Amino acid sequence: MRMKQSINVNEKEILRLLWRHKALSRWEIHERTGNTPNQVGLDVGRLIKRGLLRERIPDIAGPGRPRVPLEIDPLRRYVLGLAIRPGHVELARLNLRGDMLGRQLQVDVASSDRLVLAVCELIRKHIGPDCTGIGLSTPGFVDPDHHHIFSSSVLASQGPVKLVPIYVAAGEVAIILENDMHALAARWLLTHEAEADEDTVLVFIEDGELGSAVLINGQPNRGCVVGANDLGHTRFLIKTELCHCGHHGCLERICSTPFLKKLDGKNHSLLERVVSVRQLAADPALRKMTRYLATGLANAANFMRPNRLVVVSQFTRYPSFSDPLVRLVRRRLLAGIVDRVQIDLWDQPGTNNGETAGWLALAALYRDGWNRVPSPPEQ
Ligand SMILES: [Zn+2]
Repeated sequence: MRMKQSINVNEKEILRLLWRHKALSRWEIHERTGNTPNQVGLDVGRLIKRGLLRERIPDIAGPGRPRVPLEIDPLRRYVLGLAIRPGHVELARLNLRGDMLGRQLQVDVASSDRLVLAVCELIRKHIGPDCTGIGLSTPGFVDPDHHHIFSSSVLASQGPVKLVPIYVAAGEVAIILENDMHALAARWLLTHEAEADEDTVLVFIEDGELGSAVLINGQPNRGCVVGANDLGHTRFLIKTELCHCGHHGCLERICSTPFLKKLDGKNHSLLERVVSVRQLAADPALRKMTRYLATGLANAANFMRPNRLVVVSQFTRYPSFSDPLVRLVRRRLLAGIVDRVQIDLWDQPGTNNGETAGWLALAALYRDGWNRVPSPPEQ
């Protein structure tokens, strides 16, 4: 029978160091943690036995006994990422370094009643003794403590959807249930480790979709309910299409092809305009949209005073759009904040997929504050 065994504080610190520094010897871990060489040896031994770490070929440098570098083992264990989307569920397998193993799978779900069943079937099919954790993401509000989704655009019914059968299907493998913006934040956090302990506002922008997540000291802002920080529903006194929240003037309705078309009657999509524009002045509709967007981003930064504002979008590939956007945001930041907020662009296509959900399980393995820690069984 498999024994459930959680990762203790020392082991987690070692995992986090090796995620950040790629390779360290036992002696270097002793120097960085202050734990005795004997203790480090015991902790490392357990992590190797459980398939989380491995030894590399020693570097031969000078006389004396060579130091054996340790690293995260990319071959033995894996995590699952499951993303609940309107009409389907996506599944991905990732190794412990975040590399995809095989292709992402997609299973169509005819109705939200069948959603839980479909997720259970996927888990049963792809879970195994080497599965270290499962990241489960969904739009909307979730309750990880009581295992349900409160409300979400993917659900037909209004009431909460109970996910208990999913936890039963996962057995002793931990499920990290989060909003999909938090999954994106987990991925940013682990791939930008140098900035990871800062307060960060991430804003994801797509055509007609604008989501946000806030990290405080590298941990998701919990608030009164687990969900995204709904910057997309910041409202302006301007006529837009009706938003699914029931109002007009939401920022995510402004940052959309229908809004641009309403302004100038042209049929080009938002992406086509961003790709082709040389100067914002040449596309007054896009310029107007960009000003509203900059105001929304600057308001969020003025309110949160983050160290870093990260704009996550494929639109950031195009400097003739992103440069003026950043300038407009800076112009709207308060004098006491403008020199302190770093504005970064992250060209990360797509948020809501199984691969990104898998990073939730990795964040729980390498960082504090990301739900409970996955518990790899003894081997
Ligand atoms: Zn809205």
